[in-house]
Amino acid sequence: MNNEDLFKKVVSHCKEYGFVFPSSEIYDGLAAVYDYGQNGVELRNNIRQYWWKAMTQLQTNILGIDAAIFMHPKTWKASGHIDGFSDPMIDNKDSKKRYRADVLLEEHQEKLRAKADKEVEKARARFGESFDETMYRSTNPRVVEYLNTISHIDNTLKEGLETGNLVMIKALIEELGIVCPVSGSKNWTDVRQFNLMYSTQMSAVESGEDSLYLRPETAQGIFVNFLNVQKSGRAKIPFGIAQTGKAFRNEIVARQFIMRMKEFEQMEMQFFCKPGTELEWYAYWKEQRLKWHLALGTDKNSYRYHDHVKLAHYANAAVDIEFDFPFGFKEVEGIHSRTDFDLSKHEEFSGKKLRYFDPETNESYIPYVVETSIGLDRMFLLALCAAYQEEAVEGGEVRTVLKLHPALAPVKAAILPLVKKDGLPEMAEKIYNDLRFDFKLYIEDKDSIGKRYRRMDAIGTPFCITVDHESPANEDVTIRHRDTMEQRRVKVSELRDILAKETGMSALLQKLA
Ligand code: ATP
Repeated sequence: MNNEDLFKKVVSHCKEYGFVFPSSEIYDGLAAVYDYGQNGVELRNNIRQYWWKAMTQLQTNILGIDAAIFMHPKTWKASGHIDGFSDPMIDNKDSKKRYRADVLLEEHQEKLRAKADKEVEKARARFGESFDETMYRSTNPRVVEYLNTISHIDNTLKEGLETGNLVMIKALIEELGIVCPVSGSKNWTDVRQFNLMYSTQMSAVESGEDSLYLRPETAQGIFVNFLNVQKSGRAKIPFGIAQTGKAFRNEIVARQFIMRMKEFEQMEMQFFCKPGTELEWYAYWKEQRLKWHLALGTDKNSYRYHDHVKLAHYANAAVDIEFDFPFGFKEVEGIHSRTDFDLSKHEEFSGKKLRYFDPETNESYIPYVVETSIGLDRMFLLALCAAYQEEAVEGGEVRTVLKLHPALAPVKAAILPLVKKDGLPEMAEKIYNDLRFDFKLYIEDKDSIGKRYRRMDAIGTPFCITVDHESPANEDVTIRHRDTMEQRRVKVSELRDILAKETGMSALLQKLA
């Protein structure tokens, strides 16, 4: 299955099996907004819980909070979001479509890169064993031209964005002859900055003064509560504050399903430390966060670190954890060493001291911060892309199976009476009623057992527990493993322990300790 097919299949699987639906679909949907269905909500809750427990339960010095989505408007002035949180946009006058200018340029670069790679592959086939790729890339005139144009785009875009010279960016788009993918024309408007924050009103009267923003990140709710948590929690530096919650960004170029949404959820942790120790903590969190991802059993070659070359002015180190999605390596999480930027700004704008008094050294200082920030929805998409498989099974059939980590699976086990008679449904129901206090289960007696197994495979249920004719007399059942499809007989009395061990969060969390 190629990547494009895989992605299409994941998207339609999400809808068919109740993971993700387009928002307000009966009204033809709302661009880049999605709803989670009955299985999606369970998977999403489990991912969130895995993150939450790894942060606030495993780490003794991380405390959780849940700040409001609305914040005092000055927050966003202090954080720099009002002045600086924008994307450069350009419209095509013929198609009336709006694009991110930097994305148009990056896509153009991708095309050039593909052309250069094609030349290299052609030459490799021609020269065979003796082919020297490095030499070829630096000497073949056509390839050199492609590569030079790519770095020319990088440099001009960087300069244009840094100096706010948007005329320069438009000139570059024109110079490269980039056309609108819809109309095919080069009839572009000027490039303008477009703020990504959604605003609304606090009161019913529109005065402009009480403009509120829907938060574009959860982090600021942590910064403004730094002292509240530190004091009430008697926290000693170094310590962290963790939060999960909705964030909103008016993403103009919303693409790739739930990869880039206008309403999404973040899981963020700000780690407060002594100035001068931040790079050690940055290294620690960089490693720790990748460990969290890999503990789920995902192939480690699907992950890579992408160090930021160009740092935000307040950061002294930043890295993305990228995953190999079907559309290429893309950021799923960022780890940023943010210095004392945010707390200093909030001190300045609020006029309140946001300092930590160190009882050991009798010093008072603004802590430095290392942030870990992951999108819950992007992690959800990652989990599905990594888990989705189609396997040939006996009889020439293909089964679709989601090989999700059992701790993340929406349903932990299905209880299935083999037939709808002979007391089997009653026994299945008794097992279900006994175990449902501890596990999310499913019970069903319709259709053939094979069909019921397939439906459970498709939503990633790790175990199918079948009650057959031998079960009532022996007080036993068969338990079928999703990945191997192997079945074994176990006593009903053993089920609780098996499910707890195999599908609980604790074995997963132990891998992080
Ligand atoms: P990108 O470069 O992809 O726009 P970003 O660098 O703006 O992301 P951050 O501000 O660092 O992202 O946000 C942290 C995390 O939040 C990202 O790693 C991503 O997982 C998630 N995220 C950010 N924007 C979106 C969005 N529009 N939809 C879904 N998830 C998002």
